[in-house]
Amino acid sequence: MRAYVEVDLKAIASNIKWVKRGTKAQILAVVKADAYGHGLVPVAKTAIKAGATWLGVALLEEALILRKNKIKAPIIAWLTPPGEDFKAAIKNNIQLSVPSIKHLNLIEAAGKKVKKRPQVHIEVDTGMSRGGLLDEWEDFLKAIVKADVDVLGFWSHFARADEPGHAFNKSQELKFNKMLLELMGVGIVPKYVHFANSAAALTNPGVHGQIVRLGISMYGLSPDVIHMGTGAELGLKPAMKVKAEIHLVKDVKKGAPVGYSGVESTRQDTKLAIITMGYSDGIPRPTSNKAGVFVAGKRAPIIGRVSMDQFVVDLGIDSKAKAGDIATVIGGKGYSIDEWAAAAGTINYEIVTRIASRVPRIYV
Ligand SMILES: *Cc1c(COP(=O)(O)O)cnc(C)c1O
Repeated sequence: MRAYVEVDLKAIASNIKWVKRGTKAQILAVVKADAYGHGLVPVAKTAIKAGATWLGVALLEEALILRKNKIKAPIIAWLTPPGEDFKAAIKNNIQLSVPSIKHLNLIEAAGKKVKKRPQVHIEVDTGMSRGGLLDEWEDFLKAIVKADVDVLGFWSHFARADEPGHAFNKSQELKFNKMLLELMGVGIVPKYVHFANSAAALTNPGVHGQIVRLGISMYGLSPDVIHMGTGAELGLKPAMKVKAEIHLVKDVKKGAPVGYSGVESTRQDTKLAIITMGYSDGIPRPTSNKAGVFVAGKRAPIIGRVSMDQFVVDLGIDSKAKAGDIATVIGGKGYSIDEWAAAAGTINYEIVTRIASRVPRIYV
C-alpha cells in the first residue's frame, strides 16, 4: 500500500485506563479533529470500552457522525458558532457549550422549536481570552436563571496546564471558583464541573472536578515534552505509526542536487529512496535533513525539499532497501512524532492531526 496510518487501539485503551487510575473524575475522551488523526468512530468506541463515559468534540458535525454510528454516550460539542443547526444538536442529544448570551438565546429558541430542553455546559473565560463568558458575565447570570435550558455543566480551559506549577494555573482556578460561586448564588448548581485537559489531568488533581477532558494523553503523547517529559516518561504508549511504500531506489553520484531548488546535494556516492508521502499527506515541509524514515534496519534522513506527494531519503551506499519495501515514516523504530514535531518547529498535536484523510487508517 502506498501509505497508511497504523492505529494501535489497545494503546489508546491502555492510556485511558492509566489516567483513569490516577483520578476520581469521569473521563471525557476528546475525539475532535478525527480523534487527533486516529479516526473518529473507532477511537470513540475504544475509549468508551476502556472506561471513558463522555465524548468531547469541537464541531457539531463531528458529534452528529458519532450519533449516526450509534454511539450513545453523552457528547459535548464546544465550538458551535451562532449559525449552526442547534435543532439538530438538541434532537440528537448533543450537549452544547454556552460561551455567550447570544448562544444561550439561540440554543433556547431551538429547544422550543423541537420541544426539548437543551442540555448545556456554561463556558467561562478564566484568563485564556479565547472561548467563554467574560464581559457579559453579570448579564448572563440574569439571563440564565430565566432560560429554558438544563445547565448540566460548568467549564473552562487552561492556557498553561502544560507548565505544572505555573502561577497562571492558580489564577485561572481562582477565577473559575469565583464564577462558579456566583452561578450558584443565582440558584444554578451544575452537576458537572470540568476544567482539566490532559496536562492538568496528569499533574493537577486539585482541578479535576467531576470530569477530566483527555486529548493528547489518550493518544499516548505528552502535552509538553519540555515541561512534562515524554509520553513514555508519563506512562503513555503512542498509538500512531505512519508507514509508506518505497517507490524507487537508485544509485546517485556525489554532488547531485536533490529535489526542488537543489537546496541539498548528495555528500558522497549513495543510494536514494523515493518515499510516497509529501506535504499534502501531512509531512511538514520544513523537515529536510531533520527527520526521515526507518527502513532496512536503519534510519535514513530526508534529503532536499519535501514535495507535495513524495520526499527523498538518503539510504547510504550499503543499504539493502529496495522498491516496494515498507518504510516507517513516523513512530516505531523510526523518527518519533515528537522528533517530527521538533524538526518542523511545531508540537506533536499538529503532526498527528494533519496526517491527511487520503492516508487510510488501519487498526491493529
Ligand atoms: C482539545 C481540548 C481538550 C484536550 O486537550 P489535550 O491537551 O489534548 O488533552 C480539552 N478540552 C478542550 C475544550 C479542548 O478543546
